[in-house]
Amino acid sequence: MTAANESASPGYSLEELERAARTVVAAKHVTALVGAGISVESGVPPFRGPGGLWTKYGEPAMDGYQKFMADPRAWWAERLARQSEESELMKGLEQARPNAAHHAMAELEKMGQLQHIITQNIDNLHQEAGSVAITEIHGNRLKLRCMSCNARYPLAELLTDEIPPRCPQCGGILKSDTVMFGEPIPQDALESCRAQALLTDCMLLVGTSAVVYPAADFPVVAHRRGALLVEINPMETPLSDLCHAVLRGPAGDVMPKLVERVRKLAAASGGPPGKE
Ligand code: NAD
Ligand code: ZN
Repeated sequence: MTAANESASPGYSLEELERAARTVVAAKHVTALVGAGISVESGVPPFRGPGGLWTKYGEPAMDGYQKFMADPRAWWAERLARQSEESELMKGLEQARPNAAHHAMAELEKMGQLQHIITQNIDNLHQEAGSVAITEIHGNRLKLRCMSCNARYPLAELLTDEIPPRCPQCGGILKSDTVMFGEPIPQDALESCRAQALLTDCMLLVGTSAVVYPAADFPVVAHRRGALLVEINPMETPLSDLCHAVLRGPAGDVMPKLVERVRKLAAASGGPPGKE
């Protein structure tokens, strides 16, 4: 790589990029908390911030889960009836492909420099890019989840005429895996996130406004234990002041640069990464 394409974006200095890369290489267990911002460059609008759906249209009703629980049959009937309806978010999600940031994160994992991704996104783009160690705290739009035994199934395989659809293993009611407004985070996902927050000594905060709980708590818990936080976001967040390094810019631009820098530093230090 030439010096020209190594130059940093206007939103941060080369020293800041270097600090972020050194933090990743020096850490034993690197995690990432990812939010809707990483998928903006894939054409999926976020909720908050400039261009966010809630900024444009206001906040939606927050009782989706209560409605589902009150009458799963009616919820499924309505959902199937408006399957062809193209909301801005659905259209974005259907057409979205992983962008340079998703690919860079998959690369970081392959290099042994990123141990786990906690994503708040439901778009499946990390998997499409090749990442493996992922916890989806708000579920996955391409899966169904059993309300009784928590088993997940690919949506395409199980949508039959029967509504609500039933779990092949236990007969329980299936809902979309996506966590609805008002719905508790599935216990298995929550436990995985908590375990990661206790293990990590470096957490990347990529495209998250850091105001959605409980996700916004994991970096705070990790930071309290001494983990170093690195933020990748064009805008300031409530966590910016806690961060060891802040890379102000779009993830699709910043992440590949960070990963290239990590690759060089790791190669220069020789040997495999001392990660756990
Ligand atoms: P958010 O919508 O609250 O905030 C988005 C954040 O991304 C902001 O901080 C913004 O500054 C930043 N951002 C904007 N463009 C960016 C870019 N190019 N690169 C990096 N950062 C950028 O997102 P959130 O904190 O994840 O919370 C919203 C919730 O909405 C999530 O929990 C998620 O479940 C859901 N959601 C998911 C998707 C998706 O799956 N792609 C899309 C919209 C909303
Ligand atoms: Zn079941």
